[in-house]
Amino acid sequence: MPIPRKPDQSVVTTCAYCGVGCGFKAEMFDGRVVRMIPWKEGKANHGHSCVKGRFAFDYYRHPDRVTAPMVRASIDQPWREVTWDEAFTHAASELKRIQAQYGRGSVGAVSSSRCTNEEIFLMQKFARVALRNNNIDNCSRICHSPTQFGLSATLGAGAASQHFDSILQADVILVVGANPTEGHPVFGSMMKRRIRQGAKLIVLDPRRTETVESPHCRADVHLALKPGTNVAVLNSVAHVVVREKLYDEAFIRSRCHWKEFEQWMAFVGDHRYSPEVVGPEAGLAPEDIRCAARLYASGPRSTIYYGLGVTEHSQGSTGVMCLGNLALACGMIGREGVGVNPLRGQGNVQGGSCLGSWPHMFSGYRFVTDDSVRASFEQDWGLALDPEPGLRITNMFDAALAGTFKAIYIQGEDPVQSDPNQNHIMAAMRNMECVIVQDLFLTETAKFAHIFLPGSSSLEKNGTFTNAERRVSMVRKLTAPLAGLEDWEITVGMINAMGYPLRYDDASQVLDEVARLSPAYQGMSFALIDRVGSVQWPCGPDAPEGTEVLHIKAFPRGKANFMLTGYVPTQERTDDRYPLLLTTGRILSQYNVGTQTRRTGNVAWYDEDVLEIHALDALARGIGEGDWASIASRYGSTRLRAKLSERVSPGVIYTTFHFAQSKVNAITSDLSDWATNCPEYKVTAVEVTKLQTSVRSEAGNPVAEEEQA
Ligand code: SF4
Repeated sequence: MPIPRKPDQSVVTTCAYCGVGCGFKAEMFDGRVVRMIPWKEGKANHGHSCVKGRFAFDYYRHPDRVTAPMVRASIDQPWREVTWDEAFTHAASELKRIQAQYGRGSVGAVSSSRCTNEEIFLMQKFARVALRNNNIDNCSRICHSPTQFGLSATLGAGAASQHFDSILQADVILVVGANPTEGHPVFGSMMKRRIRQGAKLIVLDPRRTETVESPHCRADVHLALKPGTNVAVLNSVAHVVVREKLYDEAFIRSRCHWKEFEQWMAFVGDHRYSPEVVGPEAGLAPEDIRCAARLYASGPRSTIYYGLGVTEHSQGSTGVMCLGNLALACGMIGREGVGVNPLRGQGNVQGGSCLGSWPHMFSGYRFVTDDSVRASFEQDWGLALDPEPGLRITNMFDAALAGTFKAIYIQGEDPVQSDPNQNHIMAAMRNMECVIVQDLFLTETAKFAHIFLPGSSSLEKNGTFTNAERRVSMVRKLTAPLAGLEDWEITVGMINAMGYPLRYDDASQVLDEVARLSPAYQGMSFALIDRVGSVQWPCGPDAPEGTEVLHIKAFPRGKANFMLTGYVPTQERTDDRYPLLLTTGRILSQYNVGTQTRRTGNVAWYDEDVLEIHALDALARGIGEGDWASIASRYGSTRLRAKLSERVSPGVIYTTFHFAQSKVNAITSDLSDWATNCPEYKVTAVEVTKLQTSVRSEAGNPVAEEEQA
């Protein structure tokens, strides 16, 4: 159908792709979405957008969509379509059978940052009131759980301290382990605008990314550190700050615990963190570390933005704490133009953290072990709740392999493609008696499912997303769900089938419940968001329309904490057999594991994950541009086409993970962050060898056939 010039309807909604959360005016014609126009009044994007939100929306009508619930007795049998009632009844009877046979803790659930706040909240409610345990986790476990831990430990709140526009008042911008130009493009453009106005830029990243150098925008200092050395380098930056007395004593005395600061000062001031010691280990010139420290501390307004290059390490939480410490020491928190800000990869990672899809916390970051907190939920929900923390995603898969965890309900996630050590995940999936997947398409994970519940896309439902600046915005239904139910209605159907009677007239009532039970969301409602456009939490009597900047007068615990951040090198080491380090990231036109964007015209820009390798490493292995290469680690192997690149240093290789057939997670390790189990995606020791170039095409994506002897 040709795209009509004039729509017959337009509806304001929020992009579901990245954590910028751009507002769009969706134009409709004859019940079909035909155009996404960036919304000028959108407070996160001010009328800007990137190629994902603007063009990658047609996946919702893709013929691969599943439009009826399906069941099968085992994963080698064909699917059988059933009614929603049959699907719910069958799922509930399987979950109850398994709990009766193996115990209450043998089942669990996983929610997704692609889902709305209301859906995420209902998934944790499902675990607590229907499964009667706390075996609930969400995919921020594998991306930003260290943010929640590390920022809570230092600043007292696991969220961005600023609103995006704050960067327009920054004098120095420190970007650590993030590439906003590709991963958060609209924010990346705003950052570049500020740099063109004269702000200084420091980047810590193993790659020479677009953020480091692009037309009219170049980092003043690029610390191209060896993957896995973040904590050593950030401690070294702090070392320079304390040794050269660049810290803000007045701020520390009034806002922090001075004695703690003195301990921290002695710790990072130790010779082992001097740039002369850390530099050689991290592959950096000591003077560059000193330069970065002096620039950041001089401000006068310095701000930090960071991403998965900080969190997805065995010391992810420690890395986040390093950033909190640094901001505190230099007094760079609690006003415009400064702060510490995680850039969230998926649209609702912040909501995934806020809404209680954690095995140890209810919504609002309150512990299930706290009797008074639990009592407030028990009173609202009318039943006793389990006081024992439940299993994390990683624990669930380990327990499945051990034979003690037998069933899982996964909403909107594809762990077989997205989680590390894919062979381990697939073995765990095979070991379960009931896998329930709720998604748009038959994903890699759905290949292991016994029950498939067809979900609704973000264009087919009402709800809210919370973006990377804590901004809660409306997701609005543009068209009816293809399979008949919105995702929140599916989870309510599951809860009812399990025997807990539950009813909401619409999704707004779920947010009302969130507001009732979660302090930071206290004043939040669909009506408020409709009236003011979007609302940043905390929102309540003191801030009825939300809060742009956190920590202005005090931290949530009164004073902030300096944490000691000892550097412990990762166990993932290079050796003669695996001499290269693989690190992973994203590309502008594709999103995450590509489930949606691969099914849109955006494949015209990028239709294949490739291996970036430095010319010296390629030459040593006889690999030329476009050659197929095998990448092998201690955990598995895969094949990618080589792209010779100056963006990576010798010894480091890089790829994206947007295409299932790339099987990048077949080679990543199952090492994880010491505090949160966030996987160490960013460091895998590998070897690369050239493959024969015999190529065939499979679903439009070429693969190598034979390995060279
Ligand atoms: S992907 Fe991110 S930057 Fe791009 S339009 Fe969507 S929210 Fe905005």
